[in-house]
Amino acid sequence: MSVRVRYAPSPTGYQHVGGARTALFNYLFAKKNKGSFILRIEDTDQDRSQESALIPLIESLMWLGLKWDEGLILKKGQLESQGFYGPYRQKNRISIYKEKALELIKKGKAYYCFMNLEEEALQKQQALQQDMSFKVSSPYRDFDLSQSEKKIQDGEPFCIRFKTEKTKQSYQLKDLVRGDVSFPGDSLGDFILIRRDGFPVYNFSCAVDDSLMKISHVFRGEEHLSNSLKQQMIQKALDFKCPQIGHLSIILDKNKKKLSKRTGSKSLDYYRQEGYLASALLNFLALLGWNSKTQQEFFYKEELIEKFNIKGLNSSSAIFDEDKLLWLNEKHLKGQSEEGLMKEIKVFLKNPISDKNLFKKMLSSLKSSFKTLKQSAQLLDLFLTDHFELNPKAKDILKGEKSKSLLTHWIAFLNQKDKDYLSLDDFKEFQKSQKNIKGSLFFKPLRCACIGQPEGVEIKILVELLSKKQLLQRAKVALKYTRKD
Ligand code: GLU
Repeated sequence: MSVRVRYAPSPTGYQHVGGARTALFNYLFAKKNKGSFILRIEDTDQDRSQESALIPLIESLMWLGLKWDEGLILKKGQLESQGFYGPYRQKNRISIYKEKALELIKKGKAYYCFMNLEEEALQKQQALQQDMSFKVSSPYRDFDLSQSEKKIQDGEPFCIRFKTEKTKQSYQLKDLVRGDVSFPGDSLGDFILIRRDGFPVYNFSCAVDDSLMKISHVFRGEEHLSNSLKQQMIQKALDFKCPQIGHLSIILDKNKKKLSKRTGSKSLDYYRQEGYLASALLNFLALLGWNSKTQQEFFYKEELIEKFNIKGLNSSSAIFDEDKLLWLNEKHLKGQSEEGLMKEIKVFLKNPISDKNLFKKMLSSLKSSFKTLKQSAQLLDLFLTDHFELNPKAKDILKGEKSKSLLTHWIAFLNQKDKDYLSLDDFKEFQKSQKNIKGSLFFKPLRCACIGQPEGVEIKILVELLSKKQLLQRAKVALKYTRKD
């Protein structure tokens, strides 16, 4: 049997990092098993689906590097279905769900229900008063089909409900991550398949599509456990083959709160804009609920594909640790080729690169201090412009003891050098000449006079990256902030 897995987001807003983790595990499983990874859009919920969310969601996944073999794709700004099992947007499959719902009705596994909302609300209230869990009890469960059809012809609003077996002691579900999961027999009522507005509910369209699209395995969040049970019941009632399902661990933030869109946790795009590399995020997400059973934590995508194994998935909650993400990002930045890094950083730069070779020199000299692309670009921008500003901290430092004398000597030293760029030896020569000014009294004001801030890069690195002209111009600005010793 060929492996076919899917990621099936509902476009209800931005692409949440938790969803991206689900997409990633499905992707890794597909690639590891030489199978297909499919992107299906679940947009039948009229109230929650947002058309405007769709393209950004797809772009985020593309940015992360999860290329799907089949499904809804974005080509030159246009969305199209690609593959044999389309369309891949549920909105465009409504007639299929209606047909399958009718099939279930004919088999006696589903029924038209004409209860109105007030009747349902009343039952809910009664259950609440008796401290019982609510399960609808519809008088139409065993209603004669021809009578139901007559009501429909008369224009009575209806929904279609699944006829859940009432006699079950318990329900079982085989989970690829947790083993056998059991649900109490009284946990399910006759749930809705098709709403009064004619649109299918998520569980129905998802169950139908997973089977029609020949999905072999589904990896999804733990919160879908009871949905999986309903979906398998639907698939069995339709004599469909059920995919094997694995429920991924819950993701918690550092305060042990569930990470979710509702609690305002972050989007994939947020991390992209903050200057995280897709490869670092991918590496980080892969470690949320999976481990390679080794000490290794740094992975590129290809290695993850090679090492990915269901046995490494675990059910205990994973912590979304931003410090670890930053640490991984730093490592991935260090692992980038010069060309690759240049391409990534360029997006974040405010100033143009006028001298490519000098820029390359800057990258190799500064690389070890990079944590994110954004922060790296902020640093590099300080070198790429003739505009010079001092931050408040720098202005304070320059007011300090000996700064005036230091900068006066620095300007004189620069003036007497007949070259465009200083060398490290030149700098050492200057340092020697200032023996009486030591430690931070030497380095901090000088750094302020070079990049406008007292921290950031070692001075001996940065003096080689600014031209003599820039150094002079900046030192003169800085000198104005110093005061007499
Ligand atoms: N559309 C569902 C969601 O976004 C998909 C869940 C699933 O079936 O994996 O939560």
